[in-house]
Amino acid sequence: MVKVLCLACLFLGMPLSAFPQGDTARASQAATLLSRYIQLASVTGSEKGAGVFFSGLCKSRGLHVKVFSDRSDSYNFSASLYPLESRKPNIVLLNHIDVVPVAGNWQHAPFSGRVADGMVWGRGAVDNKGMAIMQLLAVADLVELASTRDLPYNVTILSVSSEEAGGALGAKSIAENHLDALNAVLVLGEGGAGVSGILASDPQKRVFGIEISQKSSLKLRLSTKVASSGHGAVPPEAYANKKMVAALGRLLDRDADIRVSAPAALMFEALGKHERGLRGFAMRHPWLMKLFGGRTLREEPILHALVTNTATVTNISNPPTSPNQIPQRVTATLDCRLLPGTTQRSFIRGLRRTLRDKNIAVEVLSGSRPAPYTAPDTLFFEALCQAVTQVYPNALVAPILFPASNDNSYFRARGIPAYGLLPLYLKEELLRAIHNKDERVPVASLDSGVAVYRQFLVSILVGKQQPPRHTL
Ligand SMILES: [Zn+2]
Repeated sequence: MVKVLCLACLFLGMPLSAFPQGDTARASQAATLLSRYIQLASVTGSEKGAGVFFSGLCKSRGLHVKVFSDRSDSYNFSASLYPLESRKPNIVLLNHIDVVPVAGNWQHAPFSGRVADGMVWGRGAVDNKGMAIMQLLAVADLVELASTRDLPYNVTILSVSSEEAGGALGAKSIAENHLDALNAVLVLGEGGAGVSGILASDPQKRVFGIEISQKSSLKLRLSTKVASSGHGAVPPEAYANKKMVAALGRLLDRDADIRVSAPAALMFEALGKHERGLRGFAMRHPWLMKLFGGRTLREEPILHALVTNTATVTNISNPPTSPNQIPQRVTATLDCRLLPGTTQRSFIRGLRRTLRDKNIAVEVLSGSRPAPYTAPDTLFFEALCQAVTQVYPNALVAPILFPASNDNSYFRARGIPAYGLLPLYLKEELLRAIHNKDERVPVASLDSGVAVYRQFLVSILVGKQQPPRHTL
């Protein structure tokens, strides 16, 4: 989801002294900690320094830290209310230590962690160090409670490396090797966020999407070789680039099949209740989307991506040649995102049919494993919805299918329920800054995010709910 607005931006023009004392102290504490965390640059593959800092911070707040891997190119650890050896059913708050590289000219140096204009600036402010700091402050508030009462659940902050590179040295490794130690009954990671502009009939409505499922990714390389004549002055009837461009044209012009998966149907149902007119009717009866056809839906790229398998041409290349030479080989790479329920095999079969050229080879570069969705009919989901609306009154909370991928799917694939929510309400310009220049987060929003986590955890830990049976 792309369009976001921040509740806390209502306060942005106000000096910090305008906040109640407790909130001011907590917000500035979050900003100070986040600033220090940002200053430890941790572009994927160099997470260790930042990871050691954050695990030390967790330890200093009374959490039980367990380091799963400590390597120069990755660092993964958990920080829990109770030691993992307690074997309590565990609510895992997932975050990632790594950040994407710096791009563009920043107003404040990207690893300065500068606090200015009511914002904390820097790479990772939102994605994902801000989330980690919010988790820490919420869980640290519960340390005393956990020491005086035998709570029904453990709560663990799980900080991992390499998310931005697909998670192989982070969440994937944890899910494969340490799942039993974690004893997780829920993973709550990144995913949706607070956005506006979602409902056409109420564009100001703040909508928090909780990710319950995501598309799986598949990266493909297409290649072909044609032994044609070589001079560009006399083009042959068939040559490599012509064939590849024609095949890609067929792919990009195709009307992709519209398919409303179960998690997308849940999302449309929840949003459709608040949408008026034809759009609302179509959301409440998503089979109607088929009637619109892929071509019409293309005008709404996010909606289109949520009901179709997509293929984006991210590279086309030839061996080096001079401008008057006809290259005899060409490759193209495709970034494909598959709907829940679509297998890599069936997608590639359909792709070959669309390309209509037997001489184009299709090679799988990488792919994520599809995972079942986590139904939103759990006590955890309900508690999360309530926590969001307590902190952001009048917001709408809805389950969503996430069009990209993140670490949550490694846990879903192993039967662990997982939801994805960044409990922040961000303006559109702040959302655009993620993975871009001038990434920043409002100081006041950090406090709201801490409050969402805390409300959620308190309702689960001291509510009447009994822990569900362990899902493994
Ligand atoms: Zn992230």
